[in-house]
Amino acid sequence: MKLSLFNISNFRVDGGAMFGVIPKALWSRQVQSDELNTIELSLTSLVIETEERVILVDAGWGDKQDEKFFRHTYLHGGSGLAGGLAECGYRPEDITDVIITHLHADHCGGCFVNAKGGGTVPLFPNAAWHISRAQWEWANESNLREEDAFLPENIRPFGESGRLHLVEEPCELFPGVSVRICYGHTPGMLIPVINCNGKTMVYTGDLIPTVAHIPLLWNMAYDLLPLVTIAEKQEILHEALQNDWLLVFQHDPAYECCTLSETPKGIRAGLKGRLADFT
Ligand SMILES: [Zn+2]
Repeated sequence: MKLSLFNISNFRVDGGAMFGVIPKALWSRQVQSDELNTIELSLTSLVIETEERVILVDAGWGDKQDEKFFRHTYLHGGSGLAGGLAECGYRPEDITDVIITHLHADHCGGCFVNAKGGGTVPLFPNAAWHISRAQWEWANESNLREEDAFLPENIRPFGESGRLHLVEEPCELFPGVSVRICYGHTPGMLIPVINCNGKTMVYTGDLIPTVAHIPLLWNMAYDLLPLVTIAEKQEILHEALQNDWLLVFQHDPAYECCTLSETPKGIRAGLKGRLADFT
């Protein structure tokens, strides 16, 4: 098995929204904000190449929305989705499967692109889409709170593709690639756990978006069910610590991954760095 990480693009969001009830006096010691109070995030996608498959995890914002929509995301840097894949040695047609952690716009938008004659076409013509049934049904009902994140133009094409696989429960999707299902951020978020050549790593998605989100109470204001997020983090952090797993971050612009260590204050990051430093 071979793992590759690439950054589609950096973007910026409000620092307060990223740390919920944690006072700025505390989070600003860990993360720098600008005059608008925004902080830097990455959009790091993962490619898992097994003997038989090339699996992409998440696909970034895409480009189907207009300038006005992207005005508040401050996209910059990174290699783009197709560009980042190319740097890792893959063409869009090589991708056999895409695991979508959840259907918020910054995770699934890149899967379908505008077609010349109108409508959309899949960027990955040979890929099957894997989304949890809980998230699929939730996102299709829509709700006021997540209205800006669940965009019909991003979600509808999956249903029309004929290649949508709904994940019913936590399972081993492919040899060495399992998924957990979390409910605190949004119902049915898939968390991939990968066993690569004897080393286990967990792609923490929006459960632990950056290294600064490892403390149990340092959670995003976007989470629908904060108490559930805390319980889910607690469980995964304990398991990761006990079994020497690596955490892989989707939104940390400085660190791709880290080990964990026990401290008097709770579980914290151990060694931080790039995936290549640990594998
Ligand atoms: Zn999200």
